[in-house]
Amino acid sequence: MGTLVANTEIKGTLFVISAPSGAGKTTLCRRILNHFPDILYSISYTTRDLRVGETDGKDYHFISRQTFKKKLDLDYWAEWARVHGHYYGTSAAFLSGSLAKGRDILMDIDVQGAIQILDRFPEAVTIFIMPPSMGALEQRLDSRGTDSRATIKKRMRNAVREMAQKNRYRHVIVNDDLERAVDALIAIVKRCREGRT
Ligand code: 5GP
Repeated sequence: MGTLVANTEIKGTLFVISAPSGAGKTTLCRRILNHFPDILYSISYTTRDLRVGETDGKDYHFISRQTFKKKLDLDYWAEWARVHGHYYGTSAAFLSGSLAKGRDILMDIDVQGAIQILDRFPEAVTIFIMPPSMGALEQRLDSRGTDSRATIKKRMRNAVREMAQKNRYRHVIVNDDLERAVDALIAIVKRCREGRT
């Protein structure tokens, strides 16, 4: 990990959202960004393939494993993790630059990444989104139609592991009703932004 972020003068707030895939996190993030258009979304880098409907440079920066590893050697990542067999990471320069400018940032990263971010930014506002149940989670992954049976099983196993860590987060929201979950999320973000000195 680089020193760029460690030396940053932090003026903005970092909002970190994690959830097992299929818990509705993408929708919730989108709603937050619509509600607070000045919050900057941290576009992660990934070595996984682009899914139908995704755009390179908007949903993710899609890069090769080789490029990912090269950037690792160059201390490019503020945090990184291997998730479902693929690599994901966040640019340290992007985080430090944006926070120094006073921008608030929303990150959608997994539990391993959130722990690394908390190490560097103990003030980060961490939020864990829980699916209403394991059955509902499987159904959502299934109905997405983007993943194979084996991938869904892998994601379910990962979900159990991730959910076991939810108490590391400052806030936990159960997404059993989308509008209620959106309201809860907006309330947290609003409170944090208003409370800032
Ligand atoms: P997906 O491939 O379904 O978009 O994301 C899979 C998982 O990777 C999700 O839990 C997502 O939060 C996580 N993820 C996405 N970007 C990053 C990142 O930059 N760092 C880390 N640690 N996890 C990420």
